[in-house]
Amino acid sequence: MITIRNLHKRFDDREVLRGIDLHVEAGSTVVIIGPSGSGKTTLLRCINLLETPTSGTITLGEHTISFDENQTVKKDVVIALRKQTGMVFQNYHLFPHMTALENVMEGQVTVLKRSKEFAREKALQLLDKVGLKDRADMYPHQLSGGQQQRVGIARAMAMDPAVLLFDEPTSALDPELVGEVLKVMKELAREGMTMVVVTHEMNFAREVADQVVFVDQGVIVEQGTPEQIFLHSNNERTLQFLNKLK
Ligand code: ADP
Repeated sequence: MITIRNLHKRFDDREVLRGIDLHVEAGSTVVIIGPSGSGKTTLLRCINLLETPTSGTITLGEHTISFDENQTVKKDVVIALRKQTGMVFQNYHLFPHMTALENVMEGQVTVLKRSKEFAREKALQLLDKVGLKDRADMYPHQLSGGQQQRVGIARAMAMDPAVLLFDEPTSALDPELVGEVLKVMKELAREGMTMVVVTHEMNFAREVADQVVFVDQGVIVEQGTPEQIFLHSNNERTLQFLNKLK
């Protein structure tokens, strides 16, 4: 579903991603772990082109883009690639002046040009799926963080993306609200959604990930099944990182 080859990203003179190679199988969940500042969020943002990589290639479904510092990426290519991904942000990023329902309808109507009736129906189905049908007419400030994030997930799903990208989706939540969001994500994984998740929730990684990718200082240090990474890693940097979490 996604293949990334030799991806580099530089901010000014600082190289934040230094040659990332990653393959994400359709229907799988890949969890990216690693220390703060190691480039996890930047990698995710490069996949949906919120950041433009400095060099390397990204293949998403049928689209392959090669990046080159000296060439700007064509807008239609950016749009085509972005349409295949849905992003769930750490701070939800809901439109504050729109209800939950309107938030889930908005992209469907403006970007995908769906009719309002269709978009409303789909939004209600998705809000039901994340357990919020009865909150459809509430505004973000009337919802808890966990509820807002579930609206965020419904909104991303509404675009029928090939891949869902999660950027630390539970980091801003009070501990008692983390579970309700992870539960929705587990359900999506079980249904075969392709997901790339940056998270510090190691239990989620253990339980749900098909592949765990450990990133440090802009490179993938190690990747494997949760069992390989959490139980059998011999890599010094991986072990050091995991030990710090204990
Ligand atoms: P992580 O998600 O692993 O915590 P990030 O990808 O957020 O790491 O950040 C990696 C490094 O890139 C950090 O040092 C951060 O300061 C830097 N960085 C991220 N975004 C930008 C940006 N837009 N401009 C300059 N530096 C950035």
